[in-house]
Amino acid sequence: MGEEKPQARVNPVGWDKRSTAYSVNMVVDIMKFVSQWLEWLLSNFAPVRPRNGKTCLKMCGFGACGVVLVALVSLRVARAVVSSQAQSPFADTIFIGEFVTLDRSHPKAEAMAVFAGRIIAIGSRSEVEALATKNTRKIRISGVALPGFADAHVHVAGVGEQLERMDLRGLTKAEILAKVAEVARSSRSGSWITGGGWDEGFWHPSVFPTASELDAVTGDHPAALSRIDGHSTWVNSKVLVLAKISRDTPDPDGGLIRRNTAHEPTGMLIDNAQELIRSVIPKATHADQEHRIRIALQQFSRWGLTSVHDAGVGLETISIYKDLLERGELPVRVYAMASGEAAMTHYLANGPELDLGNGMLAVRSFKLFLDGALGSRGAEMTDAYTDAPQEHGLELMKDADLEQVVRAARQKGFQVNTHAIGDRAVRRALDAFEEGGVTPNERFRIEHASIVTNDDLPRFVHMGVIASIQPVFVGEYSRWAEDRVGPSRVHWVLRTRDFVNAGVALAAGSDYPASDSGAPIATLHCLVTRQSAAGKPDDGWYSDQRVDVDKALRMMTAGPAFSAFQEKDLGALSVGRYADFTVLSASPYQVPSNELRTLTIRMTVVAGRVIFDVDDN
Ligand SMILES: [Zn+2]
Repeated sequence: MGEEKPQARVNPVGWDKRSTAYSVNMVVDIMKFVSQWLEWLLSNFAPVRPRNGKTCLKMCGFGACGVVLVALVSLRVARAVVSSQAQSPFADTIFIGEFVTLDRSHPKAEAMAVFAGRIIAIGSRSEVEALATKNTRKIRISGVALPGFADAHVHVAGVGEQLERMDLRGLTKAEILAKVAEVARSSRSGSWITGGGWDEGFWHPSVFPTASELDAVTGDHPAALSRIDGHSTWVNSKVLVLAKISRDTPDPDGGLIRRNTAHEPTGMLIDNAQELIRSVIPKATHADQEHRIRIALQQFSRWGLTSVHDAGVGLETISIYKDLLERGELPVRVYAMASGEAAMTHYLANGPELDLGNGMLAVRSFKLFLDGALGSRGAEMTDAYTDAPQEHGLELMKDADLEQVVRAARQKGFQVNTHAIGDRAVRRALDAFEEGGVTPNERFRIEHASIVTNDDLPRFVHMGVIASIQPVFVGEYSRWAEDRVGPSRVHWVLRTRDFVNAGVALAAGSDYPASDSGAPIATLHCLVTRQSAAGKPDDGWYSDQRVDVDKALRMMTAGPAFSAFQEKDLGALSVGRYADFTVLSASPYQVPSNELRTLTIRMTVVAGRVIFDVDDN
């Protein structure tokens, strides 16, 4: 976020365990303290959905009396806290261990006290532990705690879908069949088995598989497994029957049904022949979608993410988030970007939802798409692609439509987050924002901002437009981006250091599952080394764009918080903010940069609640 630290991998303040220079950052704002109490009481005792009006009245009356009483008591106790800086009955949890706060006023701490999800004290162990009562839970953390990682651009249901699908990459045929058999045994009778990533290059002999091999392990389940490149699918006989693919079915245009000597289909559908099964694969139900979201959120907690920005969701997904929240089953904070006509119409009529459930869910932004992706030459370029001189990419939204959405969104207080990858799409987004008179306090975002000309860099700063970047793309871009744009434009691609130097506000995300990895450790590694999640290329791709560990961490914590209007609540560990943190196996400031990707997640905590603990897993 443009904040400077002299260099990477140094202890931010030269903190010394023997030093007595800790300061406990205590609660001094009585009103904030009382309001926390009220917030907590209301969220814990006020009925969310009363069954009838009578109950509501009774409970609200009771709640109101209780609230007033407790507020008075709180005021007295809060005064006591301020004067003594010692005793408070209010620490429901105390975490003890090594904290890197990313707050410059107190960069390190030994303990943190939490009440009702927020940090009420952080500093030396002795001072924080003085806030413990007999009911305070003490949790010792092993490793180094940092402010919770956030992913500023991820596709939550897509991550769930990816997890549901069997991953068959790098497996032998026998291993694949064993995996399929296991899934067939454990899933509901007749349900579909899907997976992808197999490659006959790993098999001996290296030949395409057959439906009968799958039939032997799938029972009554239809099964469809796509090859690693997505250009062919291996199906079992049940799928061939459902899709009515027989010896009499002609090959479609641009497709091939592989057949044996008797002209019977073998179970391999190539290219457009895969379309023949599309109509028989069941569409995801509401329950499927909820399941995908749940397993994705669990995965995020294992990756150390405490907050995710879901980059484009409709009303159904938002309703799933609200249901999970109401049932207390939303483990990770979600900043949902509404997209599609129905969602945008609904929200323009009803206004933004700034904070649902103590910062667990917010819907106050729209996601738009201006162009496609660079790999498939869909990114909209001012000049033609170097490796396709007739092509300039795709314009997915016209300037007039964009300007209209910007106008409507601003009137109702919505942030606009536009997907723009090519230099022309980025420029069109900036032009529309400028035309609309967008100001820095509206914090409009360009998602990806993958190819930005030198002339456009300062325009981000002038309008306060946030670049929402995905550093893990360095992996795949290093393989073909220069072919697409040529040597003179490649310096505009995946700029990071240039954004920092120009003073552009940055928020880092992963775009997973559209990228190689959704793990924030991979993002950290890519930012600092300019290598892929797998550590390639050895010396980094355009390594002048590297940033140091401190900047990288702030792009993954404070950056996303700012880009979601949540910087007062998230992004650093200090009194008043939510107790969201991620515990790593070691301090990223201390490990050599080429070993950053070996760091592991030991614990993930959201609002003082442990949502992942490696020792329980
Ligand atoms: Zn995306």
